[in-house]
Formats: sequence, C-alpha cells, structure tokens
Amino acid sequence: MTTGGGSGLVIPQHLLPDDGRFGCGPSKVPAVALSRLSQDGGRLMGTSHRQAPVRTLVGRVKDGLRQLFQLPPEYEVVLGNGGATCFWDIATLALIEHKSQHAVFGEFSSKFAQAVCEAPHLDAPEIVETEPGKRPLPYISSEVDAYCLTQNETSTGVSMPIRRLGGERQLMLVDATSAAGGMEIDIDQTDAYYFSPQKCFASDGGLWLAILSPNALDRSRRLCSSDRWVPAFLNLWTAVENSRLDQTVNTPAVATLFLMAEQLEWTLSQGGLSWAAARCRESARALYGWAEGTDYATPFVAESEDRSPVVATVDFDESISAIEVSSVLRQNGVVDTDSYRKLGRNQLRIGLFPAVDPVDVGRLTTTIDWVVQELRAGGHS
Ligand SMILES: *Cc1c(COP(=O)(O)O)cnc(C)c1O
Repeated sequence: MTTGGGSGLVIPQHLLPDDGRFGCGPSKVPAVALSRLSQDGGRLMGTSHRQAPVRTLVGRVKDGLRQLFQLPPEYEVVLGNGGATCFWDIATLALIEHKSQHAVFGEFSSKFAQAVCEAPHLDAPEIVETEPGKRPLPYISSEVDAYCLTQNETSTGVSMPIRRLGGERQLMLVDATSAAGGMEIDIDQTDAYYFSPQKCFASDGGLWLAILSPNALDRSRRLCSSDRWVPAFLNLWTAVENSRLDQTVNTPAVATLFLMAEQLEWTLSQGGLSWAAARCRESARALYGWAEGTDYATPFVAESEDRSPVVATVDFDESISAIEVSSVLRQNGVVDTDSYRKLGRNQLRIGLFPAVDPVDVGRLTTTIDWVVQELRAGGHS
C-alpha cells in the first residue's frame, strides 16, 4: 500500500477504484490494450509505416471509425500528426475561406478562435462567447463560410448539441476531441468532425483524426491549390491523399494507432457508439447525483442539460480545498482529478470516458467522501 504522503492520509484499499486514472486526456488506457501492444503490437513497432503491417493498422482505425459513426460512403476519414491543436491551424488554412463564426466557452474553443484572429489571410471572426460553465448559442450568419463548434468543452465540462446552421456553402467544423466516441453524433450535421485519440479513444496523444464531408473535401482541395500559402505540413489535401492510401504524410505514432484500434474494436464489440454513450451517461449520473447529494459539492454547470457526460466538473464549498482532496487522491494512486489549471476554481474535474468503468466512478465518489470526512475531522481545511 502506498503511503499517504504529505497529508499522511492512507485511503483504505477496499474503497479505492480498481483503476485510478480519471484524467481528461491523457486518460485511462485499458491494461488489456497495453498488454496487446506489447504482444501483437511488438510486430508493428519499429517497422516501416509504408509497408503492409502499419498500413493495415491505419486501415483498421479508418474502418473502425467508419463503423462507429456509421459514415455515409462519401465521407472520408483523414489523419495526420500533431493532435487537435494542429488541426486548428490546418482548418485556418485549408477549411476556412474568408470568415468563420466561433462558439467560445472555455480554453479549447477560445484557442481555435484565437488562431483564426491571428491569421492574416482571414477576416476577423464572429465570436459568440459565454462565461465558463455556460453554453453559447451560435446563430445563422450570411457573412461566414464556417461555423466552429466544440461538442464538449473539456476545460469546463459543458457540452453542446451539434446541429447544422446555415447552408451548404457554410462548413460545420466540430472540435470533438473529448466527445468523439463517448457522445452520440449525427455525422450528417458536420463537415469536419475532428479529434485526438487520447480522450474517448483511450489511446496516446500525437495524432489528429478528422471525418470530412464532400463539401469539406472540396473546399480543402480548392484552398490547398489556390494562391494561399499553405505550409506542406498543414496541407490538408496532402493528408487526404495519404489517408486514402492508409498512410500519413510523415511517420505516425504507431503505438497510438494500435491502442486506438483496440479501443475502437472493443467499443464496436460491446455495441458501438450508442453503448459507449450510454455508459458515459451512467457514469455521469453517478457523479452528478453524488455531488447533488453531498453538503459540500455541487455540479459546476448549473443547467443540467449542458452538463457533459464525459467530463464532469464539481465545485467544492469554501470549507473544503479541492486541491487538498485531489492531492490526497493522487498520493493514493487516484490521479488527475484536478480542475483545469487556467479555470482557477475550487473544483475537481473527472474524465468519464468509455474506458472508465461506471463502478469505479461510484467508488471514486465514496473515496472522495472518505477523504473529505478525514480532512474535516483532522482540521486540515
Ligand atoms: C484535449 C483537447 C484539445 C487538444 O488536443 P491535443 O491532442 O492536445 O492537441 C483540443 N480540443 C479539445 C476540446 C480538447 O479536449
């Protein structure tokens, strides 16, 4: 048993979750997938990504996503190196033509808006912004050629419904980094549904993946061959052409692809996206229900329909220090429950991605209650 470290609190073993990883990305990677990586994955690691074994792996990921999201045949799965953060720059060059609208409600959505504001070739974007914990309402505007939404704002735990706005020539660019694979989506409502693998897909970081509609494909081909300067690494059309061949522009993170393929196939074998989304909702019910039932914690997001099923944020009252609670948890092997650093609230933030067992979420709440009781009894707070 680990020692309780600075606070000296040792959480009784029988209270603890089986797996103590509750981060919002990087997030829990199932032990089975890791052991598969060291066995079957051993044949792929350290081999050429231009040869059949790694290309077959890329194909598994593309097929898995195709099935999971029940993609219409004309939609394509595209991937490359650099994570969702890189995709913002790609979108700025290869998907937004002149002007975009952004729903901003936290750190991640604001970073994309910021990247667009700084782009010299684009007009100043329309920004619909709310304070953290609330959800903005994007509106139809004839001025813009792209709407930029975030299905789940990971920094605050607010999610938004994804519905098409405007017409055919206005693309729907959806940052689904922490939502894809854990929340339902009607892909017809999107033109670029993009994400990284280290959240709902229980993998490691390093890659971006994007599901592109025919209109997004057309726009990217046109912008990438126009007189706009598009750096080679950010050329989306080159990534499309490579992805069609089950390749990437440059060397991909092979272990990340392997772990993602494992998670995709596991999710599909359990019942697919609706199963995964139901599992996340079950975890969320347990967590928000617990918070509402305590005398010291409350869900941060006031409107229950805006509360994320994949990233739960819970405020503590002033008598309890959330940092103290999360550090006792960390010393006992329950990690990454800290709130988003820049939000600066007395809060815990819990990743409830599909790999997390709802039973462990229940155990987590019991564990937190125990820690709070001990801190109160010991006069720590
Ligand atoms: C984590 C996250 C990102 C950034 O992903 P990286 O892989 O680190 O680039 C972007 N958007 C959202 C909504 C996220 O949750």
